[in-house]
Amino acid sequence: MHVVIVGNGVAGTEAALAIRRRLDPSRARITLISEEHPYFFSRTALMYAYMERMQRRDLEPYEREMYRRQKIELLHNRVVDIDADAHAITLDAGTTLSYDRLLLAVGARPRMVPFEGLDEVKDGLVNFVSMQDLDHCERLTWSTTEAVVLGGGLIGVELAESFIHHGLKVSFVVREPYFWPAALAAEEGELIGAEIRRHGIELIIDRELKGIESDEAGRVSGVRLSDGRHLPAQMLGVAIGVVPNVDWLREVKTVPVLGRGIRVDRSFRTSLPDVFAAGDCAEIGGEDETPLLETIWYSAKLQGQRAASAILGDEVNYAPPIFYNSSKFFGIEYTTVGQCVGVPSGTRSLYRKHPTRPITQRILFDEARVLGFSMLGSRWDHTLLQQWIAERRPLSYVREHLHRAQFDVEFGRVDLTKFQEEERTL
Ligand SMILES: Cc1cc2nc3c(=O)[nH]c(=O)nc-3n(C[C@H](O)[C@H](O)[C@H](O)COP(=O)(O)OP(=O)(O)OC[C@H]3O[C@@H](n4cnc5c(N)ncnc54)[C@H](O)[C@@H]3O)c2cc1C
Repeated sequence: MHVVIVGNGVAGTEAALAIRRRLDPSRARITLISEEHPYFFSRTALMYAYMERMQRRDLEPYEREMYRRQKIELLHNRVVDIDADAHAITLDAGTTLSYDRLLLAVGARPRMVPFEGLDEVKDGLVNFVSMQDLDHCERLTWSTTEAVVLGGGLIGVELAESFIHHGLKVSFVVREPYFWPAALAAEEGELIGAEIRRHGIELIIDRELKGIESDEAGRVSGVRLSDGRHLPAQMLGVAIGVVPNVDWLREVKTVPVLGRGIRVDRSFRTSLPDVFAAGDCAEIGGEDETPLLETIWYSAKLQGQRAASAILGDEVNYAPPIFYNSSKFFGIEYTTVGQCVGVPSGTRSLYRKHPTRPITQRILFDEARVLGFSMLGSRWDHTLLQQWIAERRPLSYVREHLHRAQFDVEFGRVDLTKFQEEERTL
């Protein structure tokens, strides 16, 4: 059997490894194709390469030798066509490759909107999603003194932090009333906002970008905001979200059913025979279900592994795991587990705040059990928090055992008895 995987991100690579664990090279030939970078790398660590805290090679979780040992063939090329009737794909180089099973793990691309002045821009506008974006940022940084970042989410704050690290004057424009309401409650958003400002970034909330200005050569020279304010900038980082990378699929010979992403059922099958999809590009769900689009690392990894099982003929019925994410905003650790936003009305929240330090814990719960955790400023064992949600533990239990989930080995545990507490209905 020849399994061809398009996309060597976490979904595609995990799928390749899962197939190889079950089938040796005499039973499965595996080809892993990517146009971006020949080797799988940690996209979530791109900012550390930009800040020169990591070498690019250190972003690669596996030794390059591993692919040769595992007999996983790598192709650094772009797939431009799919002919599902012929079970074949075409590469940019014009070569045709046949497959028995095809996995599309083609990820997501930055969202863009047609800002006024965008057509005139030839340089200075950057995204921060791919290795090529990193190249682009590095090339422009030396000729930049002022930068604007647009979009108050995770990628936006990482870009703002990287820019300030390089000594640029940074304005960070957020449309919402505080930083990242899609994930954080107002108190936590404001706490992160204070941290962003403390690092010398001008955080501008409640404002939208109205237009982009550029010089005669087409290089970004500034932006105009919704309140008429002008910000000079030679670099504009646009981080207003990502969308599944599916536009190219509208042009292929046999087009799979597309929604916002590639539509797949819970066993990752697309509408095309022997073609599967997983990761950021996949929109999962049966005909009568609201499709699920998860654009996060841990889900892409799990989806890749589950898609591999389906490709090998197992019965798969994917259900998303209890949500988990972690990150760091400058020095502030962030862990979120379970449901913290978009919760049913009547959900209660226990908010715990350290009296002097930027350390908070928010626990969401209802009459019967805890639903989610949003923790800032200290480190938590997410597996235990997930376990309490899965076991439907009540708030009283979690409160009593919370110390068990804390693991600040480096800095010592924070004394959980010192916190100010406030309970409220959302
Ligand atoms: C800066 C940044 C920070 C992030 N931080 C976090 C975080 O803290 N936590 C978290 O959970 N998630 C985070 N994410 C999201 C996470 O990285 C993604 O959810 C995950 O990488 C998706 O993996 P994937 O395998 O689905 O796709 P990708 O990693 O996007 O891989 C898809 C690959 O397919 C290739 N490809 C696409 N089309 C073709 C084609 N036609 N031919 C050949 N190759 C093709 C692409 O070039 C790409 O290399 C972050 C993302 C970014 C950009």
